[in-house]
Amino acid sequence: MMTNYSIEMLSEGVLNGNRRLLAKAISLIESTLHKDRINAHKLLSILLPHTGKSWRIGITGAPGVGKSTFIETFGLNIISEGHRVAVIAIDPSSKRSGGSILGDKTRMNNLSIHKDAFIRPAPSGGALGGVSTTTREVMLLCEAAGFDVIIVETVGVGQSEIDVESMVDLFMALMLPNAGDELQGIKRGIMEITDLFVITKADGTTEHLANFAKAQINAIIKLLRPKYNHWLPQILTSSAIEHRGINETWASCKAYFSACNEVNSLALLRSQQNRQWFHQLLENGFRELLYQFPTIKNQIPTLERQILDGTILPTFAADQLLKKLNPVIPES
Ligand code: GDP
Repeated sequence: MMTNYSIEMLSEGVLNGNRRLLAKAISLIESTLHKDRINAHKLLSILLPHTGKSWRIGITGAPGVGKSTFIETFGLNIISEGHRVAVIAIDPSSKRSGGSILGDKTRMNNLSIHKDAFIRPAPSGGALGGVSTTTREVMLLCEAAGFDVIIVETVGVGQSEIDVESMVDLFMALMLPNAGDELQGIKRGIMEITDLFVITKADGTTEHLANFAKAQINAIIKLLRPKYNHWLPQILTSSAIEHRGINETWASCKAYFSACNEVNSLALLRSQQNRQWFHQLLENGFRELLYQFPTIKNQIPTLERQILDGTILPTFAADQLLKKLNPVIPES
């Protein structure tokens, strides 16, 4: 795919903030071809010194909560203060880029044409519906291109929220202004990792529900162990269509980052995230390798049959197979 663009052209283009070349560079990063992976590594090592200076914000929310409407208003608000905003939108419906849910719908019209914005759908990853391993690299490219606020958007499906939280500095959850059942259904794990709750559609007939939801979330998070010592989750209400609560949300983000700066916690958070990323890549790679080992590959059909017949327990079968790796991995 890269015949027309050399690594030099791409790296220069990205560093100059050229959105077209940034998009080309991202396609290279997302390519799974071996040759492209080698070039992607070259490109990333050139750009790495120019990364890490942005604020990384994850935004999640159920379909219909108002993510695109909110991100458009929020993004334009941030840009009006002289920033450049990149939105990486994780598309749960697609394993490769250009997928359907986010692609078909005309989203964030005004933001997408703004010269200081860049919007890019990203494929979702793996069987668990998580985030592709290349999304972190895409984020680095956007940083090298001078975007100083990176928003990673995800629909709350499968593993994707947890994955996004592990790659951003601040994790924001958009919540519906519904009370009761809707809130009780919230995955508990999400409440615990959220730094900023924003209840959407706090206008018209749903305004009172938004306030009710705020009180309810407040009651729930009081029961949870705080994620950080230096920051307690905030709960805001907003209306993207009436442009209310948007400035306040941005002000809350700033307050979060200055609280982090005071205790110097971001560098530590990011290095821990990198360590986790490294382990995740190792585990993914190992999982793929495992099934390529001839001894493993050859025995699997027999063992599967025995498991289906009920003649062997899965634990014994797995043990038996893993022992075959002993010559490779010494017993501890
Ligand atoms: P997404 O699926 O989470 O990206 O949600 P959208 O941004 O597409 O919005 C879903 C629906 O909610 C649309 O019909 C929007 O017009 C509506 N909506 C979004 N923001 C607001 C808001 O602030 N107030 C009201 N009343 N409706 C909103």
